[in-house]
This record gives sequence, structure tokens and C-alpha cells, in this order.
Amino acid sequence: MKILWDYISGRTRTSLTMSQVVIFMTVAMLGIHTALLLMFLFFNIYFMVGVNVASLILYIVCFIFIRIGKNPYIVFNLCYAEVILHAFLAVVMVGTSYGFTLYMLSMTPLAYYAAYSFNSDKQSVNPMTYVIISCIAYIIVRYIAAVHEPVYVMGGKEVDLVMYSINYFIVVATIVAFMSTFLIQIRTLEEQMLNKNKRLEVLSTHDTLTGLFNRRCIHDRYIKALKNNECYSIILGDIDDFKKVNDTYGHSCGDNVLKGVADVFKTSVRRDDVVCRWGGEEILVMLPYGDKDDAQRIAGRISESIRNLVIKGTEDEDVKVTMTFGVSDSNEASDIKDVTRIADTRLYYGKTHGKNCIIAEDGLE
Ligand code: GH3
Ligand code: MG
Ligand code: MG
Repeated sequence: MKILWDYISGRTRTSLTMSQVVIFMTVAMLGIHTALLLMFLFFNIYFMVGVNVASLILYIVCFIFIRIGKNPYIVFNLCYAEVILHAFLAVVMVGTSYGFTLYMLSMTPLAYYAAYSFNSDKQSVNPMTYVIISCIAYIIVRYIAAVHEPVYVMGGKEVDLVMYSINYFIVVATIVAFMSTFLIQIRTLEEQMLNKNKRLEVLSTHDTLTGLFNRRCIHDRYIKALKNNECYSIILGDIDDFKKVNDTYGHSCGDNVLKGVADVFKTSVRRDDVVCRWGGEEILVMLPYGDKDDAQRIAGRISESIRNLVIKGTEDEDVKVTMTFGVSDSNEASDIKDVTRIADTRLYYGKTHGKNCIIAEDGLE
């Protein structure tokens, strides 16, 4: 009971699939038509008993169609046609006072559900087609009811009241079933989309191996620094003789070294600093609110931690690496490209003058 209540309140997380909806619809229709059949039998309205027997056969066929995997859209259309025709015949036979015209209205959410579920590259479903057919059927049947007396009279005002209420309830239940399915589907899709967007956001801003930011993030932070007129500095680090690590211990060991080095960077910088994987084994840090002296201090800390970093190479051999750094700041050039170029030139100088060092001075170039 609680499951049903949660579903029709739109609080469940998983909605029924399209085939489950069609199965549910055919089973519900079998139940409703059995009840209607008994009722018409009770009032000796044999024409409508016959109509209900035909409807029951149709829904049994629909049920089999769905179980054997026929296109649910065929079943949907058969159900739709049956409801409209049945309501039409019922109004012609017993008049409008029992609420059979309401069934035509109940087809509106169904039409939109069909358009939502069955629209594809191959199939285009316009819900208004169904709505217009329902409206035309309604107008015709109201006209027939206005100019012709009903063929059968089921009873007095009490029967009117009970029948109208039952039909009203069934129609409300149909509308609720489809609208709640819609609501749950929309919520589920929304949630899936948000999760996907979050994942895509991480993928588009991060390097998958190291978890560091990629180049684009530096640009975003640079724009912010420009707006706020902040001084910023750049540290560009490159692992020394990394190719040898790969050649000696294998590529996956090289990857582990990269991950270890990246972790050192992550834990050595401040919250606002942006660490990004600049290239293969090059890591760039953009440090807002600080000049070269700050950057040099932080590069020193990183360099020390990397010297102490131990990664397993083989069963009984550890890998140790060092890094060379170039450091520059925004006082030395007008835009980040040039500031980075200066850091790169200094890094290159460090590489050609013994490696494992931090170069932050102009005079050495
Ligand atoms: P130097 O001290 O001059 O920087 O020498 P190096 O060997 O570090 O420099 P080089 O540019 O010759 O080699 C860099 C190597 O980094 C080559 C490339 O195979 C390796 N590399 C780049 N990206 C990755 C990666 O994602 N994983 C691994 N394992 N290796 C990588
Ligand atoms: Mg290198
Ligand atoms: Mg390199």
C-alpha cells in the first residue's frame, strides 16, 4: 500500500518502464471491464455485456502481444481505440448521466505519455491527434445523446450517482497513474542528468591519471586574477629523467610515480592555488595573491617532498625521482602566456644546468 501511495505521490525513485505501463494498463482494463460486464449484466443491458466481452477479448490479445514482445505502440493504439469506442457506445446506449464521456477525457494524459514514450527517429507521435479524435468523438456522442433518448435506462438518481462516481474515480485513477509516472520519470531523468553533468564537469576539468586540473582551469583562474588585479606567480615543474623510470621499471610504474608526484603537489599548495598537469610529466602551479618569493618557498617545499617520495619499482627496488622547477610572477610579464614562458625558460635552464633545482632569477637566463 505504501509503495503504491509513494508511487502516485511521485516520491518513488524508479518509475515503471514503458512495457510495464502497457502491461499495467491492460491488466487494469481487464479488471475494469470485468466489473462493467457484471454491472451491465445486472441491469440486463445485453448489448453492453457483448461490448464488454469484446473488450475483454481485445485486452487479453493486448496482454499476449506485450508478453510476446510486440511493439507496445500497437497495444497502446488498440487500448486507445477501445476506450473511445466503448465510451461512445455506452453513452449512446445509456446516456450521458453515468459519466461514460469522462473516459474520453482520460485519454489526454495517455496521449502525451504515448508522445513521450514512442517518439523516436522512426516514429513521431503527435499527442494532439489523440486529443482531437477524443474531442470529435465527444462532440458526436453528445449530439447523439441530445437528439436521441438512451436505449436503456439503468435506474434512478441513486444509480446515476453511484455510476457517475465510480466512472469518475476510474478516470481520476487513470490520470493519476499517468501523471505520477511522468513526474517520476522527469525526476529520475533530472537526477541522472545532474549526475552525468557532474561527472562530465570533473572529466572536462581534470586529468584522469593524476586527478589534477587540466590547462583550461588555469585560464579560468587567470581571468579571475586579472579582474581582481591580483599579483600571481607560476611554478612549472618537470620530473627529471622520467623516461629512464619508464624504460627501467615500466610504464605503469611511471604512472605511479606521476600519481605520487601529483599528490605531493596537491598537499603542498594552499587552497586557492591551482595545480594542473601541464604536459606529460610537467606540472604547473598558479599561485594567486603572491609573488615569486612565495612561489619559490612553495617550490622548495614541493622539491623536498618529492626527493623524499618513495615509489615501488620492483619487488625489492624503490624508485626515487627529483624535479626541476622554473618560477616566475606577474610582475615580469603582462599576460599569463608570457609569465609561463619565462617559467619555462628558467626550467629549461635548470635542466641544462644539473637538474633537481629551482630557478627563479632573470640573470641566469
Ligand atoms: P628531463 O630530465 O630532461 O625532463 O628528461 P625526461 O626523460 O624526463 O624527459 P623526456 O621529455 O625525454 O621524457 C618524458 C617522458 O615522460 C616521455 C614519456 O613517455 C613520459 N610520459 C609522458 N606522459 C606519461 C604518462 O602519462 N605516464 C608515463 N608512465 N609516462 C609518461
Ligand atoms: Mg622530464
Ligand atoms: Mg618534459
